[in-house]
Formats: sequence, C-alpha cells, structure tokens
Amino acid sequence: MLKLQNYINGQLVPPAAGRYLDNIEPATGQVYSLLPDSNTQDVAAAVAAAEAALPAWRALPAEERGRLLVRISELIERELEPLAQAESKDNGKPVSLARTVDIPRAASNFAFFGTAAQHFASETHFQEGVALNYTVRHPLGVVGCISPWNLPLYLFTWKIAPALAVGCCVVAKPSEITPHTAFLLSELCIEAGLPAGVLNIVHGAGPGTGQAIIEHPAIKAISFTGGTKTGEHIARTAAPMFKKLSLELGGKNPNLIFADCDLTEAVNISIRSSFANQGQICLCGSRIFIERSIYEPFKAAFLERVAGLTVGDPLEAGSRQGALVSEAHLLKVLSYIELAHEEGGTLLAGGKRVHLEGRCANGFFLEPTVFEGLTPECRVNKEEIFGPVVTLTPFDTEEEAITWANGTDYGLAATIWTRDLNRAHRVAHALHSGIVWINTWLHRDLRTPFGGMKNSGVGREGGLEALRFFTEPQSITLKLG
Ligand code: NDP
Repeated sequence: MLKLQNYINGQLVPPAAGRYLDNIEPATGQVYSLLPDSNTQDVAAAVAAAEAALPAWRALPAEERGRLLVRISELIERELEPLAQAESKDNGKPVSLARTVDIPRAASNFAFFGTAAQHFASETHFQEGVALNYTVRHPLGVVGCISPWNLPLYLFTWKIAPALAVGCCVVAKPSEITPHTAFLLSELCIEAGLPAGVLNIVHGAGPGTGQAIIEHPAIKAISFTGGTKTGEHIARTAAPMFKKLSLELGGKNPNLIFADCDLTEAVNISIRSSFANQGQICLCGSRIFIERSIYEPFKAAFLERVAGLTVGDPLEAGSRQGALVSEAHLLKVLSYIELAHEEGGTLLAGGKRVHLEGRCANGFFLEPTVFEGLTPECRVNKEEIFGPVVTLTPFDTEEEAITWANGTDYGLAATIWTRDLNRAHRVAHALHSGIVWINTWLHRDLRTPFGGMKNSGVGREGGLEALRFFTEPQSITLKLG
C-alpha cells in the first residue's frame, strides 16, 4: 500500500515516530493509502528547515522567487490528469470537477502570486520640504498554512503561494482526510528545484500535527481555512503568542431570487451553487429565498434539474454528484436531514443515502436534498450543514429577504438574482457578507479580497490582501534638509 511521506528540508521523509494514519477513498469506503501521523518532532524539523532556508529565500529577488513558482504552476498543468484523478479518488468529487476547477486553480494560484509579488509596491508619503516617509514590507518569516478537505490542492496552494512569493518560508499541513495531492505537490516542488526548506509539508491530524504548528513559537503567522470551531481554537491558542492570524471559516450562504431575474439562469446557477462538490464548498448557497410571485415556477424548474443530477462513481465521466468526503461527514449531514423533518420541513427531493452497485457499494453517497416549509430561524437554516442539502423559502419584501439573509452567525457569501441594477447594489450593500455575487456564483478574480464577516472569519485572502498578510510593514521616516 502506498505510504505518503512528509516533505521536509527538500526531501521526502517518513514520520519521526514511524506512525501512519489510514487514508480512505470516500467512493469505496476502503483504505487505499497511509499518511504520516506526524508529531511535534516532525513539526520541529520542518520549522528548523524553514528557518535555515529563510535568509537566502527572502534575499532572492521577487522575480527569481516568482520564476520558481511559475515553474511549479507549469508542472501542475503538465500533471493535470493524474492530479485530477488523485483529487477525485481522495475526496470523492467528480473527476470532471477536479479536472476543470480544482487542479487548474491550483496552477493559477502559483502563477498568479509568482507574478503578483513582482508588482507589489509599498506606500511613500512625501511631506514637501520636511520629510520622506516610506513603508518597507518585510516577509514575516516562517509561517504556518493549514487547509481543509473540500478543495484540497486548490486551498492548500491558495495559502502557500502568496507566502512563498513575498519571501516567507512555510510549514504547511493539508487535511488528514485528503492528503494525496499535497504529497504529489511535494514531488513537483522537488522537480521544480525549489530550494530545500522553503516549503515543508507535514501530514497528520489536526489535534496532533496541526496543534504542534499553531503552538510553535518560531511560526509567526497562521493562515487557516476550516471550520469555525477549529478557527476559534486556533485563535485562542495563537493570539496570546501574538501570531498574525488569517481565518477563513464556515458559511451559511443565502441566495436571494427576485421576481425580475432571468429565471432560467437563476435556476441553472442555483443548482451549481447548491450541489457543486456535493454542497461541500464554503461558498455554496444553502438557503434559497425566492420572491413569492415566482416561488412555484422556480421550485418546479429547480426540482426538475435536481432529478437530473446523477449520483455515481466520481471517476466516471457521467457522474454529476460524487461521494461525501467521509462516513462521519455523511452521518452529520444525514442528522441534519433528520432535524429538518423534526423541525417541520417538507421533503421535496432526495433525503436518503445512496447505495451504488459494484466498486462503490460501500461509498458515502447521498441524494441531493431539497426541503421547503422551514422557518428562517430554525437550526437547519442557521447552522452550517456543508452537504447537498438546501431549503427553499418564499419572501414578500426586499426587507424581509435581507433580514433573513443576515439572520445567521455567518457572513461569508451571498448571491442576488435581479435585473434591477439599483436593487442589486442596494441589497448587496445591506448584506453582511464578505462576498456578494450578482447574477452569478463563484465567479473568482484572484485579485479581489476573499473572506467572511462575523463568524465566517477574520482577515482577507486574495491579491494584495494575501501579500500584505504575509508581510510586516515597517515605516521609515527621513527628515529632509
Ligand atoms: P476543520 O476545521 O475540521 O479542519 C481544517 C484543518 O484544520 C484540517 O487540516 C484539520 O486537520 C486542521 N485542524 C483541526 N484541529 C486543529 C488544531 N487543533 N490545530 C491546528 N489545526 C487543526 O475543517 P474541515 O476540514 O472539516 O473543513 C470544512 C470546513 O471548512 C467547513 O466549515 C467550511 O465552511 C470551511 N471552509 C471555509 C472556507 C473559507 O474560505 N471560508 C473554504 C473552505 C472550507 P485534520 O482534518 O487533518 O484533522
């Protein structure tokens, strides 16, 4: 059986204690590889390697660092198919999604930040005849990057690339549930000639390996994407050590569908925003509020499209819905379906585990599920489910829709469907969401700030925000004359 290895000081190495964890394929429920169960000793070795590599890496011109990152991007593009297959197998997502979204985006992350760092400028404030003030942005040093399982290589590289681009060295941990593409990335970094110790990838579980990273005194910042509870724990641990923190956390995103929208487009994209990656994207819209006059036509068209979503082996081309990432997660999502019944919801579609034949007989599959008749205040409409479960709710006024949309502890993303420009902007400004899409969903430009309000996070990633996060501004004043 394949044994993944840590990537420390430029080499693939086994975990210090020799312990491994099982890696399960969600579509089959079978263990198919082993990953290091790294401990504080492994993390300490990774930090030591990063500290040793730091002086030379930060001294390298941004253009040369960028060239290496672009080289990694090219290697990811070259390996698109094997990486997509690996991501699909590890996570349960349809291979078509990995091929068109996850892996191309991982390549873009390296290309984007590799070049962005060359255009990164700091401010100068000139006081005529008195003083010249300027800001230098120094790389923070050694930083920690911790990512979740839903978009494994996509989110892992979204953190690592900007950190490396500005001259930081990185100790990174992918989710123990989806470690495979991070391991393949280590091999590509070696091939690209990334200097030893600049990037270190340490595999293992959150409470062991992750905890050792967030507690390590030499790690100056933590860039974390994951659940809100874990984010809270990380903040409690790292904040007293004065580590810089970027936390991208959970969401409970609303879709607001107004009567004047392009109904066909609103239905088509809402299907994607509800069920892409089996609903396991932090940006998925799980609460769909529809203006009453088009509630029934929207519902009919939406349910017709849901019926066409084939649940099947993620490695097969025709599968639109793959497996959920783990049995534990499947059981969590099923418990929310149970709760939706208890809270008085009417099941319109799905609601049950799917048992496939053959290779996938023991996989973690679930029907795409739709409820109506739930109040906006019930738990199903307030708590993050993070699966293929959405609710439909009619609204009567714009104010009502905004109040309900804002009525959770989260504030990550929202989608508005309307042809009325004034309303689109008015509603967007009133929503407590870090990201608002008007007549689209998951349209990403890597230059824009990405992140959530309220319990959806602290700080922003993307573009200049990420480059600023991984640097420490120093203000220097020269008195003139
Ligand atoms: P978790 O919070 O469970 O885990 C995220 C990462 O943190 C994993 O690598 C995990 O390790 C690690 N971790 C767990 N405990 C600790 C600890 N004590 N110290 C350090 N690291 C730790 O999230 P999931 O992996 O379950 O991901 C799903 C969540 O991520 C959802 O809530 C989703 O909304 C959110 N998310 C947010 C996004 C955003 O941009 N806002 C984007 C994507 C997802 P391990 O799992 O290996 O044990």
